[in-house]
Amino acid sequence: MSARRKSAVGRRKPKSTRKMVKARRRSARAPIRGYMFDLDGTLVLGDKGLQSYDVLPGAIETLNKLKQRGIPYVVLTNGSAHPPAFHAAKLRAVGLPIEDAQMLTPSSVTADVFVQRGVRRALILGSPGVAHALQEAGIETVFPAQSEGQTFEAVYVGWHPECTIKDIEAACNAIWAGAKMYVASDVPFFAARGGRTIGYSYAIVGAIRRLTRTPSIITGKPSQFALSVVARHLGVRKSEVGVVGDDPLVEMIMARRGGATGFGVCTGTTSRAQWAAQPLSRRPHRVLQGVGELLRD
Ligand SMILES: [Mg+2]
Repeated sequence: MSARRKSAVGRRKPKSTRKMVKARRRSARAPIRGYMFDLDGTLVLGDKGLQSYDVLPGAIETLNKLKQRGIPYVVLTNGSAHPPAFHAAKLRAVGLPIEDAQMLTPSSVTADVFVQRGVRRALILGSPGVAHALQEAGIETVFPAQSEGQTFEAVYVGWHPECTIKDIEAACNAIWAGAKMYVASDVPFFAARGGRTIGYSYAIVGAIRRLTRTPSIITGKPSQFALSVVARHLGVRKSEVGVVGDDPLVEMIMARRGGATGFGVCTGTTSRAQWAAQPLSRRPHRVLQGVGELLRD
């Protein structure tokens, strides 16, 4: 052994070993200190018009157990049609223990992002409920019918079943004048009673993007903006969140990217076989038949 090699013995581990130790540390899961639940396909199945819910088996019991054990939890839906308090009241009416402050929507996240980025006025493509959380955060919200002659820092696209080509034109004009485009949910489908339902904002953003070629900034799941807001509400780190959901492209991408722990349920858009076929970036750390299995070892 050369003198140079000898002097290195006993000093530091070779670079490759240090890399392996680091990688092992990274792959070790952080303990779960709080949970985020998806709504549609995970806790409930609604009808396509968002009028009523069927609670999925084990949902009420699981949330009650967390409550009894003092483990924090929130619900984050990608549905932006209604203010969080409206959702929470409806969910309590069917027996789910969810206080107003435990209910989050993409608009809650968007309000947070707009405040951080200094956005003061936004053009809203959505139903009146889409704007509520933004208004509560002190952001001026304008709907397309009143938008002529105004400039905007942001266009925000949410639940908008009544969208017209005039709304899309107003959004394009705002973007051409310098606004950035934000979207609540950029997924094509969500689980509802009687099958999958199209995501309106996905279609609307597709049209605006085609005309303006502007990228959209997603604030709902799977964005890391959303996971950060969830972690802050729970009072834990992102890596300490247990993310429970039915969609690989929504909850599992969010969990994997943020270093959180993902739980995939089979009561929504994804079957057990479909979970098993996902690439690692979308695969849950554990597959559950339903949310009722979450706290069973
Ligand atoms: Mg879902």
